[in-house]
Amino acid sequence: MTASPTIKQRSFRRLLSYVKPYRWGFIAAAIGMLGYALVDVYFVSQLKDFIDVGINQKNTDYLRFAPIFIVIIFILRGVFNFIASYCLNWVGTHVVQEMRQQLFQHLMRLPVSFHDQHSTGDLISKITYNTEQIKQTTSRALAVLIREGAFVLGLLVVMFWNSWQLSSIFILIAPIIAVIVSFVSKRFKLLSQNIQNAMGEVTTCSEQMLNGHKVILSFGGQEIESKRFFKVNNITRRQDVKMEATRSISVSSIQIIASFALAFVIYMASFPEMLDSLTAGKFTTIVGSMMMLLRPLKQLTTVNSEFQRGLTAADSVYLILDQPAEQDTGSHVLADIKGEICFKHVNFSYPGHEQQVLHDISFTAPAGKTVALVGRSGSGKTTISSLLPRFYDVLDGDITLDGIPIKSCTLASLRQQMAVVSQHVTLFNDTIANNITYGFTEPVSLQRLQDVAEKAHVMEFAANLKDGLDTMIGENGVSLSGGQRQRIAIARALLREAPILVLDEATSALDTESERKIQAALNELLKDRTSIVIAHRLSTIENADIIIVMDQGRIIEQGDHHSLLQQDGAYAQLYKLQFGSEQTAV
Ligand code: ADP
Ligand code: MG
Repeated sequence: MTASPTIKQRSFRRLLSYVKPYRWGFIAAAIGMLGYALVDVYFVSQLKDFIDVGINQKNTDYLRFAPIFIVIIFILRGVFNFIASYCLNWVGTHVVQEMRQQLFQHLMRLPVSFHDQHSTGDLISKITYNTEQIKQTTSRALAVLIREGAFVLGLLVVMFWNSWQLSSIFILIAPIIAVIVSFVSKRFKLLSQNIQNAMGEVTTCSEQMLNGHKVILSFGGQEIESKRFFKVNNITRRQDVKMEATRSISVSSIQIIASFALAFVIYMASFPEMLDSLTAGKFTTIVGSMMMLLRPLKQLTTVNSEFQRGLTAADSVYLILDQPAEQDTGSHVLADIKGEICFKHVNFSYPGHEQQVLHDISFTAPAGKTVALVGRSGSGKTTISSLLPRFYDVLDGDITLDGIPIKSCTLASLRQQMAVVSQHVTLFNDTIANNITYGFTEPVSLQRLQDVAEKAHVMEFAANLKDGLDTMIGENGVSLSGGQRQRIAIARALLREAPILVLDEATSALDTESERKIQAALNELLKDRTSIVIAHRLSTIENADIIIVMDQGRIIEQGDHHSLLQQDGAYAQLYKLQFGSEQTAV
């Protein structure tokens, strides 16, 4: 791995840019930490006088002053501690909030192909877990670095001040400690990266289970899912244990090395010349300082690795923030279009996939007419409908609206021209009314709302609910049936009054009874609009102006119902098949 320092520096600098607006808070925190450390050092430095003057010389004035001194020292320490913790947390939470917001907004702007290739759970874990990691690790690292760093330096000064001969042993052991610290850092970086990835998988796995709960129950998949989760859960645990092992081994070795230093000091003190130059106070101060050094040394050992962990998390966040957003390079603002759609020799394959999904697709949907796409599943019907709002860009060929290439239009104005109702209705955890008016910035009048709700046959079931259209429908509309959800989606599309309508198997999940009801709502929708209708049941598209038959990404037949029947080709065969099966089903 070539983790060049420049990359690290860059991600560190980028992290600093988030802190910059809150630099005064940060400076206050640093002052608090320095104050805290200095108070401690000052306390240690007074030990010598306490023993030599107070105890040995029995100076009662000094000893009476000592209790007041202790209380004042600890009050000061408490104040500094509060300032440090509060300010650091204030800065840290601001940074996390900012990053989360950015991630959230950027994820919305990323192209559909990005979301195709990344698991939702993984992305959620970036928003929730990784950002929090950045705050926790870097603020802890900073606190240790400044507070304990200053404390160690202060203690060393006190020690050298009292006896430079005894303290010089530290010059010897410092490089050994440095080597251990650098080894630990490298190992930590790797492990924390593993943990972050594993956490992503934990979320992915949980999300899959929660979304597919019913499927799991009905297929008895609990065992499989448990095993799958156990595996990823166990990976996180194992990385965690490895991390703790590295931490404790390194901490212990550093403390053992420090104990050698302590032994050395006591050994040296046993020499008569040395003993003569030492007072009891000096000796206590040096030995006491050495003991006190152990704790901050232990924390400083892992400070770099904590920092690395934070930077790794930050990098994973930057990786997403740096993904190019949807290309919105067009400048033409579509308004008042008639709605003629034209596909010209369109070839397409999904980004990241070699297999070509659409081959030389050409057709025209005249303004106000209905075009139906039929064909086996996997033949590319949905793909055609997702090229229209430019969820993906075509490889070759062109798609035009009223003769204007959609590439040259702004995405917002292009998407404003269409309303899509698909098989998978997405509803938000809100009221029925708000789900219908979703995306409208200006308020919609009650009259208008009731009108579309009536036309889409939403009123039929909403009227029976306690709060009518203001009923909350739960996450993704769990409390509604498929047909009810579908009708809300249709009402949403009706309200939009877009000149182009795409219906992708909008009624395929429904029984014939509900379909008949919805068909009425749909016919309302189809009026005066250019529509692309994808349907499984041919009976629903018989009246389409143009029927396009697709097979394996190609158009194999095109015409209206009667002419296609006369051709006696693929369409006629499909029709006979369905007609026959419907007759036997009745
Ligand atoms: P239809 O709607 O006619 O059933 P689709 O347009 O959904 O068919 O799919 C056409 C082909 O494109 C299929 O072979 C499918 O595997 C592939 N496909 C669909 N969506 C994606 C995607 N997001 N990424 C890669 N391949 C896809
Ligand atoms: Mg489809």
